[in-house]
Amino acid sequence: MSNRRSGLTPGLVKKLWLVFVLVIILMGASYVLITGYFANKFNQATAQRVNAQVAHHLIEEKFQDSSPFLEDGSPNKALFADLMHDMMAVNRSIEVYLLSENGEILYSVVLDHSDNAPSKYVSLGPVKSFISSNGEEFILGDDPRNPGTQKIFSAAPFQIDGQKGYIYIILAGKEFQSISKNLMEQYFIKLGVGATVITMLFALLIGLISIWFITKHLRLIIQTVQKFREGDLQARIENPEKSNIKGFALAFNEMADTIVGNIEKLKSVDTLRKELIANVSHDLRTPLAVLKGYVETLQIKKDDLTEEAKEEYLQTLNSNIDKLTVLVDQLFEYSKLEAEQITPEKEPFSITELSHDLVAKFQLIAEQKGVEIGLEHEDENNLVYADVGLVERALQNLLENAIKYTDPGGKVTFAICRKEDDIEIKITDTGRGIPINEQPYIFDRYKQVSTESGKQGYGLGLAIVKKILDLHDTRITVLSRPKEGSSFRFSLPAL
Ligand code: ADP
Repeated sequence: MSNRRSGLTPGLVKKLWLVFVLVIILMGASYVLITGYFANKFNQATAQRVNAQVAHHLIEEKFQDSSPFLEDGSPNKALFADLMHDMMAVNRSIEVYLLSENGEILYSVVLDHSDNAPSKYVSLGPVKSFISSNGEEFILGDDPRNPGTQKIFSAAPFQIDGQKGYIYIILAGKEFQSISKNLMEQYFIKLGVGATVITMLFALLIGLISIWFITKHLRLIIQTVQKFREGDLQARIENPEKSNIKGFALAFNEMADTIVGNIEKLKSVDTLRKELIANVSHDLRTPLAVLKGYVETLQIKKDDLTEEAKEEYLQTLNSNIDKLTVLVDQLFEYSKLEAEQITPEKEPFSITELSHDLVAKFQLIAEQKGVEIGLEHEDENNLVYADVGLVERALQNLLENAIKYTDPGGKVTFAICRKEDDIEIKITDTGRGIPINEQPYIFDRYKQVSTESGKQGYGLGLAIVKKILDLHDTRITVLSRPKEGSSFRFSLPAL
């Protein structure tokens, strides 16, 4: 799959590969080094174990010859010359040393004497450990010809005429070393090349598989994001819980939901705005047309009209101007509330007093319509904490509606009641009621319940009430039965 199609940036894949190749090179190098180190150790341990008894045999053999290493305390030169001869025939890489009891080198048999400053002593610690382990343990001892370095050796103690000492044989002498070095280098080159080729092949395979696995979920997510970007708003990452980048998958799905939600909201706001403009223009046009008609009639017929007819025309004009004023006021108020330009200025005030004032204010209108209006509250003076102006506006709208939608002979009741920390306010009427299926929508702006009696308002009154109560973090509820009446109620925090 190409990176372009999978949506993964080439940079990311390059980085993953780079890290991978680095890891493989490091692994290869450590493998070669570790193998080399242990192969070397293994070689030395084998050589030492095989030749562990060489020193011992040498002593035994030379004793049998009954010609000791030491004669009157000094090395038997003839014997050692003989030894040198044997060595050259058998193994040129060993070096034989005759050590005193305290490790001093008394004599040495080496093929090549080219060293500048060979040591005069050999530390006896490793020699004693070697002897006590009977050559079973892998121990390195001092190399007298290369002070500071250590080599595999064989050693055995002897005692001649009361004089003690050791035969100390370096098993991997200079000769051995140079051959071993040469072979090792060749071996390393072969091992290095072989290991690199094999590990590279494996790396390629494992790399392809693991990068595919690592990026599998990432690719799926990127594909979904691309689908979403290309307009498929339903595109979501499937089983985000199972993704190995779960947090990201969940966040993307949530983000997509939010975006889709916001788009829906914007769409509905847009639809409502269009509806609002259509309704407003319609509502403005009707009274304006009426006004224009009457004014024109007055202009044309002003001399033919009786005083009574003129008065009637003027009254009609006046009531249409009132309607327009109400509509413009409501629209202005609603748009301010919706644009959140109004912040409630809360203060303690007496809701009981406010209810008295409002009932008194609406008394006349109710009486004119033949509707009774009453107030119910317990005797106490209830204080609430709210914006008095806004609450008054909301109550006015509710009372207006109650009177408006109640037929003569009906009753409107304004009730106040304390409920724990709140004051409940209830406006009930015995009017025409609201059809059950329309009840959920009456608080939407421009929502008017379809009635046979025609339109009696602009559908903004309850929308304003709801906005005002939203600002007070409280909700209004309605209980209503067609032909029996309605009851609107809400609560405000008591003091
Ligand atoms: P309007 O200006 O039309 O009264 P509102 O927003 O105040 O607009 O009310 C929306 C609709 O709810 C009204 O058209 C009316 O049908 C219905 N309604 C409101 N209050 C009452 C009530 N007390 N009784 C019956 N119907 C009501």
